[in-house]
Amino acid sequence: MSAEPHSLPAHHVLILGGTTEARQLAEALESDPSVHVTTSLAGRVAAPALPPGDTRIGGFGGIAGLAAWIIVNDVTRVVDATHPFAEQMSFHASEAEALTGVPLLALRRPGWTPQPADDWTFVDSLADAAALLPGFGTRAFLTTGRMGLHTFAHLTDTWFLVRSVDPPDGPVPPRLEVLLDRGPFTLAGERELLARHRIDVLVTKDSGGSATAPKLAAAREAGIPVLVVRRPAVPQGVAEADSVAAALRWIGSVD
Ligand code: NAP
Repeated sequence: MSAEPHSLPAHHVLILGGTTEARQLAEALESDPSVHVTTSLAGRVAAPALPPGDTRIGGFGGIAGLAAWIIVNDVTRVVDATHPFAEQMSFHASEAEALTGVPLLALRRPGWTPQPADDWTFVDSLADAAALLPGFGTRAFLTTGRMGLHTFAHLTDTWFLVRSVDPPDGPVPPRLEVLLDRGPFTLAGERELLARHRIDVLVTKDSGGSATAPKLAAAREAGIPVLVVRRPAVPQGVAEADSVAAALRWIGSVD
């Protein structure tokens, strides 16, 4: 008696990862035998939580490298589920779609919306946040990640509480304390942090999502102003989804 032949997956989905949504998408696709998933991580975090399915870690070597990887590995769908501020990777993904013809979806969780009691000022870049910061406070809670810290390095009069997953490794402001931590965070925890460090201004990217949103509620309660860095736009012409469920529908529907 011969064994039942196994059907090969019809799709190879490459997920450009580094976010909660990328992991959730890999988890949702895990049980689908028609799909083979590879999640790609940049390798920025020393000990990343690995999603189910295959993973590859490290840059592709630019647009040409990504396009070659897509072709060589018979990828049939690409989902750019990188962080909304991973602008270069998103641009490379868009260019690779043009080169290979393999359909691309940008999965972006919605940004945050201010509530009536919020005191938010939107800025276009970390540099703009740094330029405005001294006018807003003297004790800043900086949650924009360790990569852009050099942008604030010239601010000698501001005291910074910097929260990041891994320690900063470039130029940093002279007066700072680093808190190594990774979300999700709680409102009680954020409240306590703001009070203990006498924070009078918060700086954040408009990352969206619930895992890091409690800092915004804590700032609202305490009447602390927030500098919010606007998201870069998704590259022109790229299909977009704002939820994992919508991304799953796209994977199943696109020709
Ligand atoms: P970026 O500036 O847009 O990309 C820089 C380079 O890093 C890319 O050209 C690519 O190198 C490589 N890269 C980025 N994401 C990759 C991925 N998922 N797989 C393989 N290579 C990747 O990226 P970034 O802002 O530094 O973000 C790096 C990673 O951290 C991303 O996975 C992102 O989702 C995550 N992250 C970013 C932020 C943020 O605020 N930017 C926050 C949280 C998490 P090659 O050109 O060699 O392919």
